[in-house]
Amino acid sequence: MRKVLHLLQQMIGRTPSCRKVNEFLADYLDGTLDPQTKARFDAHLDACPKCKRYLEQYLQTVELVKTNGTVEPPPELVEHTLAFLRRQLERPS
Ligand SMILES: [Zn+2]
Repeated sequence: MRKVLHLLQQMIGRTPSCRKVNEFLADYLDGTLDPQTKARFDAHLDACPKCKRYLEQYLQTVELVKTNGTVEPPPELVEHTLAFLRRQLERPS
């Protein structure tokens, strides 16, 4: 799991718009994003292969946990992962 997370980190973009995508990822996946932000999110995903890949990898990771684990990933784990990724993004490179 840690290895997968490490791979995910490497794929995260470091431009401001990429950061925003990561900020809103949880809401996007929950479907709670307001339509305007979601439209921007979708537009960015279309234009940014890195973020699209990241989103796909993220979803695959969740699937992986579901498939290989005996329990579904608890929401806390998902939130923890996102919080961790956000911290990585905030870090100056
Ligand atoms: Zn991006």
